Amino acid sequence: MKVYYENETSLDSLKNKKIAILGYGSQGHAHALNLKESGMDVIIAEVKGSDAWNKASEAGFEVLEAADAVKAATVIMILLPDQLQKKVYDDAIAPNLKEGDTLVFAHGFNIHYKQIIPPENVNVMMIAPKGPGHLVRRTFSEGSGVPCLIAIYQNPAGNTKDMALAWAKGIGGTKAGVIETTFKDETETDLFGEQAVLCGGSAELIKAGFDTLVEGGYAPELAYFECMHELKLIVDLYYEGGLSRMNYSVSDTAEYGGMSRGSKVITEETRKIMRDILKDVQDGSFAQEWIAEHAAGQPNMNKLRDDNKNHAIEKVGAKLREMMSWVKK
Ligand code: NDP
Ligand code: MG
Repeated sequence: MKVYYENETSLDSLKNKKIAILGYGSQGHAHALNLKESGMDVIIAEVKGSDAWNKASEAGFEVLEAADAVKAATVIMILLPDQLQKKVYDDAIAPNLKEGDTLVFAHGFNIHYKQIIPPENVNVMMIAPKGPGHLVRRTFSEGSGVPCLIAIYQNPAGNTKDMALAWAKGIGGTKAGVIETTFKDETETDLFGEQAVLCGGSAELIKAGFDTLVEGGYAPELAYFECMHELKLIVDLYYEGGLSRMNYSVSDTAEYGGMSRGSKVITEETRKIMRDILKDVQDGSFAQEWIAEHAAGQPNMNKLRDDNKNHAIEKVGAKLREMMSWVKK
């Protein structure tokens, strides 16, 4: 598979274009600041009077409401929460789109599940950093970057891929590597990954390990260090050198214990459930559920958020992290 890096990509196709970034949140502030420092002409759309509006303005951006920003720009990046994008698109973006404009996403949800259907005379592309917005900003400031996926959905201009690569370069992505995929594959792998492994699977693994130790009579502080804090150090080893670097660095006892016991935790049944989760993503039933959940005022989401907030690991963790001056608030 082709991976794009710094020397074979150029910023030219986006230079001299007015870029509007809608939403100055996690991804929004990172794309906006990185592109500005790469020499691009960026304006921001936010909700008038919001904290984010003020932050963007203090960072030196011209800040407008969404409809005005779309009118002023020719490249429009939607960095709003996925569940709000359709409404903002219908109300503020669609009525102001011009032939030849370029619509940009950082995740394929709304295009792939047909919540947003752009007109055919508009270019549609995606630049999806494989990391949270704050890392997209921090790594850029440090001179490195977060790997990105790009995808092209519509290309009436003929140079949409050049623009996607220019964007990825402008936010630092080509320092780490950029690969081309489709809206479908990005959406489905991203949703599966966050549900089964990154956000869902890992959080439940941590809680289950913590609960098991605390039920076994061990101090919650000990359980926290073991099951949450130390996980970062282990994941850093995966990040640097894969499974083998982790196994090389831990003791032989940990390596044997881990290899012989891990598959008792993640069993064939767990793998079957992962396949079910993937199927719900592929056939659109997860998307339908999330759209309905949002429309109903997110009752289940609020309950799940409360459950997490009240879990014992959050209480003990907050106390222990107070003493770690190097851990960012
Ligand atoms: P956030 O929730 O962090 O930020 C969204 C911002 O949009 C907030 O500042 C919000 O303001 C603002 N906003 C809400 N409504 C409007 C409106 N009508 N007009 C203008 N601004 C508005 O979103 P994320 O950065 O997490 O997500 C953005 C996109 O990036 C999504 O498609 C997501 O899937 C994708 N993505 C996110 C990643 C991440 O790490 N977070 C990783 C890769 C992709 P307020 O705070 O006032 O509500
Ligand atoms: Mg993701």
